[in-house]
Amino acid sequence: MRRPVVAGNWKMHGSRADNTRLVDALVEASDALPCDVVICPPAVYLWEVGRQVKDSRIALGAQSLCAEAQGAFTGEVSSGMLRDVGASYVIVGHSERRALYGETDALVARKFVAAQSSGLTPILCVGETLEEWEQGATEQVVARQLDAVLELAGVAAFARAIVAYEPVWAIGTGKNATPDQAQAVHAFIRARIAARDAIIGDGLRLLYGGSVKAANAAELFGQPDVDGGLVGGASLKADEFVRICVAADGGRA
Ligand code: PEP
Repeated sequence: MRRPVVAGNWKMHGSRADNTRLVDALVEASDALPCDVVICPPAVYLWEVGRQVKDSRIALGAQSLCAEAQGAFTGEVSSGMLRDVGASYVIVGHSERRALYGETDALVARKFVAAQSSGLTPILCVGETLEEWEQGATEQVVARQLDAVLELAGVAAFARAIVAYEPVWAIGTGKNATPDQAQAVHAFIRARIAARDAIIGDGLRLLYGGSVKAANAAELFGQPDVDGGLVGGASLKADEFVRICVAADGGRA
């Protein structure tokens, strides 16, 4: 049985005061949640938020990392540094990083490997743009993004990773994929990994991301290959995020 996981991507939002309010409320609710919970604040807040969640079941994740271990890379943060401040997860290949910061499939694959080299669990994001969706190219795009990582890291690395399917047209738009659409792509991803290693494919936790909210979470997470969510906007509201986490047992409990 795959344990569900819900990860909150705060993106570039928050302040120390906002974070304290949000984290206090999450920590209070966390014991009762039926899933692994990961929160991903901006890098500058990782240490402090890490202290706030230290005695709870909430884990800390970063939103990105540098592919290099150390050196002259101004502005960058390495996997070892993220581990050092208490992170145990890192989002890799978010569509905003791919589109706005030119992260290629090859760079994303290197970041995935760098994350694991320090013991971080990568949350690898894949997903098609609206144009690609309209062209019916979803599987082709997702396969290309996955294969870049499979080729560099090998299938065994997916035993220590999470994959998030995030259709770009659904991120921050309020327009989520339907449960059937999400399930179809998740099944495709699982089959692609399982074709290389059936046990790893079966155990891989696959998250859906893209306008997840309390009102649609149960339906999405109820799909057989949807093991939780990667949540942006709704992860900034404690009540809403907790309700999404509660929905993550997907009727399995
Ligand atoms: C995201 O940032 O990964 C995301 C899915 O955002 P939202 O939930 O706001 O669509």
